[in-house]
Amino acid sequence: MDHHATTPVDPRVLEVMLPYFTEVFGNASSTDHEYGAIALTAVETARAQIAAAIGAAPAEIVFTSGATESDNLALVGCAHHYADRGNHIITCVTEHKAVLDTCKYLESTGFDVTYLPVDKFGTVDPNDVRSAITNRTILVSIMMANNEIGTIAPIAEIGKLTRERQILFHSDATQAFTHIPIDVQSMNIDLLSVSAHKIYGPKGIGALYVRRMNPRVRVDAMIHGGGHERGMRSGTLNVPAIVGFGEASTLGLSEMKAESKRVQELRDRLWILLQNEIDGIQMNGHPTHRISGNLNVFIPGVQSRSLIVLLKNDLAVSTGSACTTATVSPSHVLLAIGQDESQASSCIRIGLGKNTAEQVDYAANVVKAAVAKLRNLA
Ligand SMILES: *Cc1c(COP(=O)(O)O)cnc(C)c1O
Repeated sequence: MDHHATTPVDPRVLEVMLPYFTEVFGNASSTDHEYGAIALTAVETARAQIAAAIGAAPAEIVFTSGATESDNLALVGCAHHYADRGNHIITCVTEHKAVLDTCKYLESTGFDVTYLPVDKFGTVDPNDVRSAITNRTILVSIMMANNEIGTIAPIAEIGKLTRERQILFHSDATQAFTHIPIDVQSMNIDLLSVSAHKIYGPKGIGALYVRRMNPRVRVDAMIHGGGHERGMRSGTLNVPAIVGFGEASTLGLSEMKAESKRVQELRDRLWILLQNEIDGIQMNGHPTHRISGNLNVFIPGVQSRSLIVLLKNDLAVSTGSACTTATVSPSHVLLAIGQDESQASSCIRIGLGKNTAEQVDYAANVVKAAVAKLRNLA
């Protein structure tokens, strides 16, 4: 139940990938012969599949190694390309580290970054975006759905005002893609990051949508050599992974409505069970504007580290906090929604995906037992 971290490859996705490791092994940019031509056709089919899932044109999709690279390319690529327009970027305190650390890097090279706060639900206020804009602002980057607390941002409202002010708008949609409808046109999004391994595709492949018209957006490459991906990201394409990503996008989109309803029912069921069993438990994030699979909860009097260790053999959930071997630092997202360090260290993140009702009932039972054990020890 940690589907925000990653998901297994769907067997139907694996199936379409397999021939591209062996029989159809061509290099999609060596098209002087059939091997390469077939590989190129497969890549272009996948590009069209991903584009169709967000209302884009195929030529606007740039393949990367994942959402981390897509976020880097969007932020650094725009910052460098538009440096003569200005040096100011607006983002939000609850972004993924792939955005926050990239912003810190840009600050070290002379860019100014405004980190907007969020309210207690984790929602950024479009009016704060508006107020933060200066005549030096080149880019606004706000994630579509938060990977820790599931809150969905008012993306269309932000897109409306960035478009009015002619400022580029990037969104990290890694957790939203194939979970909620995305339309880069009506949402006025100029750059959008997605990743395959969060949607039952393979690891190590992602994409950046880069708008080609109204306005035509440019990003300076970070990886040079060969001019692949319209010069924005060189390197031989990972054909099997790209084919899998395309298939995962199509399946995710076609099953989105039914699956998000099913997963939300599971989430609601789990939440009711946990509330019945655990005194004082509270839900983090927005009560309604949230992705269907996310349940982040505060369990007073229980250290989430201890809880997770106790559950380790029964249930895969996460603290959502960044930890290294030496230190455990409380989640920047939980601190941003107003929790203190002690509350933030008593929260767990549950990410439901292709789970079953039986698994949900099982999870509720083991969490209940583990919490009782830890509270008795205390
Ligand atoms: C997982 C995730 C990323 C990183 O994606 P990778 O493909 O693993 O690099 C970035 N942003 C968000 C919101 C994520 O959930």
